[in-house]
Parts: sequence; C-alpha cells; structure tokens
Amino acid sequence: MSVKEFPSLNEQQLQRLVYEVTQFGLSNGLIMYPPAPYSNYQPVLAPITIYPTPLPRDQFLKSLDIQLIYNKLYANIVSENEWLTNIIKTLSSSDKDFTGKLWDCYLKALNNGIVQDVSLSLTRSDYMYDELSNQIKQVEFNTVSVSFGGLSSKVGKTHQYLNQNGLYSNNGDNISTYYKENEIVISESDEKLATGLYTGVKYYNDKYLNGENKSIVLMIIQPNERNAFDQRAIEYQLSKNHNVITKRVELPNVLSMVKIDKNNSNKLYYQGLEVSVVYYRSAYGPSEFNQPETWDVRINLESSLSIKCPSLLTQLSGSKKIQQLLTKKDILSKFIDNDLEINKITDTFCKIYPLDESNDGLLARKLAFEKPDNFVLKPQREGGGNNIYKDDIPNFLNSIPKSEWEAYILMELIHPKIHNNIILRNGELLNDGIVSELGIFGTYLFNEKTGEILNNNVAGHLLRSKTSSSNEGGVAAGFGCVDNMYLY
Ligand code: ADP
Ligand code: MG
Ligand code: MG
Repeated sequence: MSVKEFPSLNEQQLQRLVYEVTQFGLSNGLIMYPPAPYSNYQPVLAPITIYPTPLPRDQFLKSLDIQLIYNKLYANIVSENEWLTNIIKTLSSSDKDFTGKLWDCYLKALNNGIVQDVSLSLTRSDYMYDELSNQIKQVEFNTVSVSFGGLSSKVGKTHQYLNQNGLYSNNGDNISTYYKENEIVISESDEKLATGLYTGVKYYNDKYLNGENKSIVLMIIQPNERNAFDQRAIEYQLSKNHNVITKRVELPNVLSMVKIDKNNSNKLYYQGLEVSVVYYRSAYGPSEFNQPETWDVRINLESSLSIKCPSLLTQLSGSKKIQQLLTKKDILSKFIDNDLEINKITDTFCKIYPLDESNDGLLARKLAFEKPDNFVLKPQREGGGNNIYKDDIPNFLNSIPKSEWEAYILMELIHPKIHNNIILRNGELLNDGIVSELGIFGTYLFNEKTGEILNNNVAGHLLRSKTSSSNEGGVAAGFGCVDNMYLY
C-alpha cells in the first residue's frame, strides 16, 4: 500500500491551517495548562501535529485486536496472587523507594483486611511501528493513571475538520479533501473509558445499592494537574452518558475529605456521598508521596469497599519487571493457554533482559556495557523522564550500587520511522521530523481472588509524537505532542 505524502502547502496556506487548528482546538477543549511559572490557570492549545501521521491499517487493526488478550493477561497475573506477590517482594528489595513502598502499603492493607475482591483497570498498551520488522512493537503496558484518552478524541476530530474543510488541500479556495473519510479514524476513548468506569459503578450499585444509581466516582488527582481537561473529558462523558457524578480530590487531601464506615462494610464516603469507584489519576511516582500521610491514603482506600481503579496489585502488575518476565514463553503460558493468542502478542514483544544474576541477566550486564547503543535501561517507574538511553547506560550503572541493578530492565530499542509532520506548540511550528507512539486503551473489571473477568473492552486509541531527536515524548513534560493517524 502506498503512503500519501504530507500535504504541501505554501506559506499562506500553512498560516491559515495553523489559525484553524488553533481555533478548532480551543473551541473544543483540546487544551492543557502550560508549565509553571507561566501557568496562571490560563489554558493553552495542547501541542499537536498539524497533519495526521501515517500508520499501516493492518497494524492498527492488530493493536485493537490484541488489546483484549493483553487485558486478560494482566487480569490473570493479578489473580495468580502467589506468583505476582513473590516477584514484587523480591523487586521491593532492589527498588525500595517505590515498588517497596507500594508493596508495604499492600501488606498493611491486607493486614487491615481487603474487603473488595473486584477491581477495575483502565489500561493503555503502547507501541511503536518498527521499521526493521515492519510491525508494531510494544513499548510498555500501563495499568495506572493512563492519560490522553480524553484529549485523543478531540485530536482526531480536529484533523478530520481540517480535512473536510479543505485546509489540507493546496488548490486555493476549492474545498477538496486530501484524505479519504475512512483514512482518518477518530478515537472514542473519552466515551469508552467513561463506560469502563461505569462498569465498576454499575457492579457496585447492583451489588450494594439494590441497583440504584446513586454512588459517585472519586477521582484522585495530583496537585497542579496540567492535564485536567483530559480528565474532565472523561468525567463529562460519565455524567452525560451514565448520569454518574465524579468528584475530584488531590491525593494529599484525600484523608481529610473522606470517611470509611467501619460499622458498615468499610463503605467509603466523600462529603456524605457513597463512593463506588476510586479512580487514580495520580499515585504513580514516588515524588507524589512527599509526606508520609500520603502513603496512608493508599492503605486506607485499599481497605475500603469501593472498587479501586487500579488496586495496588493491578498497579504493580504493570511493573516493567513483569513485562520483562512475560517475554519468557514458559512464564507467558502460565497466564494464557491459547497458542494463537500467545503468538499474536509475542509478535509485538522486543527483547527485554533482566539485570540480575541469572544467565540472561549476566548476558545483559555484558550487553549494557558493550553495545549500549542498542538499548534503553528502565527503572520501575511511570510517567516519563525516568529511562536511561544508549551510551548513558554504562556510566549510570557504574554510578549506582550493584545491589540496585536488579531494579532495572534492559530493553532493545525499537526503530520507529521518522515522518515529516509538523508540531504546533506555543504558536510555533517545529519541523525537525517526528516519531510516533500508538496507545490502545482498554478496560477490564475482574475478581482478583477468583480470576473471573466480568468485563473486558477495547477503549479507543491515542497517537503521541515527539521530535525525532528527543529520547522521550512526554506531552506534559514538553517533549511531545498529541497526534492522530491517517491509516494507509
Ligand atoms: P514510562 O512508563 O515512563 O512512560 P516508557 O517505557 O513508556 O516509560 O518509556 C518512555 C518513553 O521512552 C517512551 O514513550 C518512548 O518514547 C521511549 N522508549 C521506551 N522504550 C523504548 C524502546 N524499546 N525503543 C524506543 N523508544 C523507547
Ligand atoms: Mg508507563
Ligand atoms: Mg510510556
């Protein structure tokens, strides 16, 4: 299949396109707060590519197809409690600062009593289209606080609007579309992630409230959240489509705002409202827990009757260490018994090594020093900006005690294609070439004890892009932007 070039516009057409992107985006909430100190609570257009970026249709369809398998896999990992907890316990001794703390929270919650067996997971499986293998390869599988599902829908709509209004065509004022209608696909992630949250609400209402729709979702957010409008988009869908109220509370303030009724099954209340689902859009990095009381939030809520999205174990199942272990066939086949499904997902795996004292680990310790340019070194962290790349790896490893090496995984680099798309950020155009990362959202509701999966859904997509010269593409961190694809 041949790929269309990006539209070739003259300077005047380009300026008009930028004007229209900006107006459409601002009108439709494709916005975020800029970084401090400029913030001042004045939102700006989210950084965005002005054109959609090409992606092979078959690879996109494949990424959607395998999301249900990935969801099931991660649900099964959590319900194999002994296997997962053994891994996390070991990992806790090399990554004391975060995995160790979350593990400690889990043990304390367990000691207090975990009364809710059902948990909810909103996930995002991330891929890059690898030029060497001509396939999508998985970057990582996220099980906590996945973001941009709200904004993603608006990016697709922006590109579609520009296309329909002839702004990608260079033939003057004749309105002609550059892309065919089915080449630009709009993500329904705002709506579908809200529906995912609703599966948890409904389960709770049916089981504990005689089916009455009167519980709320408690969204636990970070102070000074810049991506608030992404979260709001999901909240508004939940309100519009399911008539469910969401309350937002900052992580450090939670304990002063909630009550847990010990005399009534540990029900959780926020200002008198019963909480069916606790939805974390926070709590994925150690810096968020800068006061000891913040850890108590996790412990206390984990012991409440509300359904957690995610539970501590579901969050921990998304550790990079688990991703590395799953690349071993004997481990993967513990959790998925269907060969076809196993083959479908292993196709998307890169080589990932442990850095322990196993044979693979010893090989990785050699590779990290002899061929660092082929690798990225990852700690057990989320949210971007934590990895070590290529020739920084040897010095970094030498700078930390060997006892901490096991807390990292060594992953082969994927080779994404560089596209000549243009990023619009802060009113400026950046055209150094971009690389893209596809994310597929999913939602599943399951019983962590019995392993029963009550609900499993694909929930739309996200494309993020970054200038090809930067290692990481955090949109909020300022390296990247939101994008959407043109399928060929
Ligand atoms: P985080 O959980 O912090 O988002 P990721 O594993 O997604 O960590 O890594 C962050 C970024 O690093 C990715 O978005 C991607 O840009 C880059 N990256 C990670 N792994 C690879 C890889 N194997 N090949 C190329 N780039 C990668
Ligand atoms: Mg992640
Ligand atoms: Mg990531």
